[in-house]
Amino acid sequence: MKGGQKLPALDGFRLVAAFLVVCIHTSPFASWTELGDFWLTRVLARVAVPFFFMTSGYFLACSGWRGFGRTMKKLLLLYGCAILLYLPLNWYNGGLTPLQWLQKLLVDGTFYHLWYFPAVLLGLLIARQTARLGMPAALILAALLYLVGLAGDSYYGLAARIPVFAAGYDKLFAISSYTRNGLFFAPLFILMGAAGYRLRPRMAMVGLLLTLTLMSVEGFVLHAGMIQRHDSMYIFLPLVMLCLFSLLLTADGCRRRDFQEISLLVYLLHPWCIVLVRGAAKLLGLEAILIYNSLGHFAAVLLGSICAAFVLERLRPARPEPHARAWRETDLAAVVANAKTLQAALAPGCRLMAVVKADAYGHGALAVARALRRRAGIRAFAVSCLQEGVALRRHGVRGTILILGYTPPDQARQLFCWRLTQAVVDEAHGAALAARGWPLHVHVALDTGMHRLGVPAEDTAAIARLFTLPCLRIDGVFSHLCVADSREQSDIAYTQGQLEAFYAALRALRASGHEPGTVHIQASYGIWNLQPQPCGFARAGIALYGVRSNPAPVEHPLPLQPVLALRARIAAVRDVRAGDAAGYGLAFCPQRDSRLAVISVGYGDGLPRELPQKGGQVLICGQRCPMVGWLCMDQLLADVTDLPQVAAGDVATLIGRDGMAELSAEEIAACCGMLTNELLSQLSARLPVIPVGNRRTIHTDHGEAKTVAASGAGF
Ligand SMILES: *Cc1c(COP(=O)(O)O)cnc(C)c1O
Repeated sequence: MKGGQKLPALDGFRLVAAFLVVCIHTSPFASWTELGDFWLTRVLARVAVPFFFMTSGYFLACSGWRGFGRTMKKLLLLYGCAILLYLPLNWYNGGLTPLQWLQKLLVDGTFYHLWYFPAVLLGLLIARQTARLGMPAALILAALLYLVGLAGDSYYGLAARIPVFAAGYDKLFAISSYTRNGLFFAPLFILMGAAGYRLRPRMAMVGLLLTLTLMSVEGFVLHAGMIQRHDSMYIFLPLVMLCLFSLLLTADGCRRRDFQEISLLVYLLHPWCIVLVRGAAKLLGLEAILIYNSLGHFAAVLLGSICAAFVLERLRPARPEPHARAWRETDLAAVVANAKTLQAALAPGCRLMAVVKADAYGHGALAVARALRRRAGIRAFAVSCLQEGVALRRHGVRGTILILGYTPPDQARQLFCWRLTQAVVDEAHGAALAARGWPLHVHVALDTGMHRLGVPAEDTAAIARLFTLPCLRIDGVFSHLCVADSREQSDIAYTQGQLEAFYAALRALRASGHEPGTVHIQASYGIWNLQPQPCGFARAGIALYGVRSNPAPVEHPLPLQPVLALRARIAAVRDVRAGDAAGYGLAFCPQRDSRLAVISVGYGDGLPRELPQKGGQVLICGQRCPMVGWLCMDQLLADVTDLPQVAAGDVATLIGRDGMAELSAEEIAACCGMLTNELLSQLSARLPVIPVGNRRTIHTDHGEAKTVAASGAGF
């Protein structure tokens, strides 16, 4: 969990890496110190490209390699653009045979810095394939390739003394000018990034200083001995990268798309800048400052590249901000904390199954499931239907995914292919699933009194028959309680009856020689209102999201935090005179001169239409303001007469905290006579989900940004 809430500082370091690449190609200190320049550009700056490889591997592995095809396509497209961009210079340099062109295109890159693209493309392919062997084997294989590369790079002087090697490398260099390529160089770093190993910060810090020193010594010795054919690969480079990357992964950073783009553009453009700076220097007679003074040359190239990158980045059409109009904020730190709190309340040996059906009760199933897997150690999830299960799998969620609802038997193949676990809703369903012939993982549902899904718990013969069906692998048996939220005596007795029926059925099953597997019966109210149960799982839904279904008190309250905030932009602020009217049906007729805020969210986003009539409120500038008039599909009106500072572009909070004020989902649901589950699960997919960690930035009026603490996280 340590550092789990932090985002790696990788995007920030991209800028540093791009800067180092510019150093490599401009040698800033060359006019003063040959050795200093060697150290900066041929040793230290050699971390830049491996860093880019590792970052690619890291982010691909984070998504379970799902983005592989997309990444390859994007890189190919970029390479294509870069080739076109440098064609004029190729043409100016002239004199390549078609065969040389082919070799440059496929291996060396068509301009000196473009070798990166064929290298990363081939490297990713190799890494992807070898990763299937398991990380240790893949890393060993890649390390061996790296050693072959090393002997053809920094250590060539030694390797070439052995005639067989010399001959072998001669052949190799006919195909690829350097061993610093996609076969020998890239795979190791891509796989190291994908493995995501991180040393403890202190160890990484000490390690970085130590390995950098060792690599520097290595570099100087090789340089002095004139052993290097090229100077991209060192024995200590992978260790330097391990330490550096560990530090970046544990640092507190953020994802910065603009940094990604600017570093990429600097990388792509700086060779053009070198040409242009030289041209301009000659034209203006400034050779002394801009060419012969290495620092001046470097500064001009860097400045030119950065300016060009900024201009291009600005010109590119931007995608809409996800939180431009109205959005959901899911506090992942809170959902992780809730999972841990719930887990701690369960009987020993009983694990939490996270119910993420209905898009995790409107919180965004993917973000929630990923956070729970990574940061709360949750290994089992429940959804309501096949589509929901497949959506999680497609985005790389591993572990058990139990489908609680009905899946038609003719979808058995999908269940099998996506390794989903299906609830058997009755005997006929089980038989029909088995008849499809796919070896399926299932949990048998028992009906202990709800009379919804499940084999009747008292029909022990039918339950036992399911265990004899071919093709069904019964991993568990479960039931659902229907009045566990009530503290009425009769309901408590009914729940006791359900529990007894459940355990009696399990005993009968074991007596007939069948092992029920992992059993479970508690949902959220089963955790709140019952003693810990001797089960393998407890299926928590609403409790995970830090709210109750209804205002009734519970037996064992737990310190849970609300996870969701719903916010929307104020589109406009309007004055309405006393006696005038506003909205559909002119339903709002103020008694006094009033100001109305038009807020960009409505019933089309899942809010109940009668909310304003039921006393609905919004938070603006930390104050409660009443909703007025009829709720529209995409807008609502709020009375902000007492808040003169409100302006278009401000953020209104429909659910969640704003300053000291808070509007809970429970309050809104209760005032509309709904369950909180109902309100939350109706939130529309039109509202983007913005995961928030421990801090978030809200853009208030006119682009001014302020950082506020996440709701309930206690900052
Ligand atoms: C929805 C559901 C749950 C989760 O219920 P909560 O009350 O939200 O915890 C558990 N089990 C089954 C069978 C469900 O359908």
